[in-house]
Amino acid sequence: MSKLALAIHGGAGTILRSQMTPDLEREYKSGVEAALKAGWQILSSGGSSLDAVEAAVVELENFPLFNAGRGAVFTAEGKNEMDAAIMDGQTLKAGAVAFVKNIKNPIRVARLVMEQTEHVLLAGEGANRFAAELGVETAPDEYFFTEHRWLQLQDAIAAGRVQLDHSARVGEKESEGVEETELVSNYADQRSKVKDQRSLGTVGAVACDVKGHLAAATSTGGMTNKKFGRIGDTPVIGSGTYADDLCAVSCTGHGEFFMLGVSAYDVAARMRYKDISLDAAANETISRLTKIGGEGGLIAVDAHGNIALPFNSEGMYRGSVTSDGVFNIEIYK
Ligand code: ASP
Repeated sequence: MSKLALAIHGGAGTILRSQMTPDLEREYKSGVEAALKAGWQILSSGGSSLDAVEAAVVELENFPLFNAGRGAVFTAEGKNEMDAAIMDGQTLKAGAVAFVKNIKNPIRVARLVMEQTEHVLLAGEGANRFAAELGVETAPDEYFFTEHRWLQLQDAIAAGRVQLDHSARVGEKESEGVEETELVSNYADQRSKVKDQRSLGTVGAVACDVKGHLAAATSTGGMTNKKFGRIGDTPVIGSGTYADDLCAVSCTGHGEFFMLGVSAYDVAARMRYKDISLDAAANETISRLTKIGGEGGLIAVDAHGNIALPFNSEGMYRGSVTSDGVFNIEIYK
């Protein structure tokens, strides 16, 4: 029987304690905790790592403060185009979707790609059509409208940049008729205090189940003001998401650098070829990311239930739980 382990992230970036408000910190932590609970319930009752990471990511996608699913950032055209990937370390099977629209939980479609097609990655309209054929739950544009994301887009357009790092524009009222409106509207007065924080969104989960099988899942809205069909590292197997028999990895940060560093696979390769621990390999991967100019972090587990959560940014929303059942939730360095 293997040691159970689950780790999740809600994005990395310039998340400064000095700019965080207690209420907002509590909200972020509650989102991380809900995701840990969802995954842990499955793992601790003997479920598979694959089910656990999917459940944790669904929870994070439903939480409006993270850049995935409901809280996905806006493209230059004011749309929400989402990427997601899931990988089963035991079978080395993976499924991913890129720039899907109006899908409530893109991670579910990624899993369907893995289980019901002979492909790994479906993109754009085709991916949406595939989801529709399988009756996957969709949501109207309003569901994905959160005013803090909309204001981020206006900032990014005004600054003329594709924002790799979303300023945590938390604090605006959401559109009428959308549940959980209060969650964000409570922060209207706090927005000004946090609006300059830089944090890279994206959510992810990695797990080791009772059989020692590993899985990884990642989901994102990508970058604010992204154009031209840009796809980040998240749905690219080996870059933002990877799992095999040695480790499972989910990354968050400036996607282009994770793609150039093939970062998620890099952790597994270092373990395999150098015969080093998960912790050493994960830290080396982040050192390399720093060398090539990238910012962000990753979460990783191995088949013995060890966890590594390295990052080179100011903070990373992260949580983990191992066999003792104690939840650890942290934000800052
Ligand atoms: N890695 C994601 C991307 O580049 C963004 C993030 O992690 O916030 O699409």
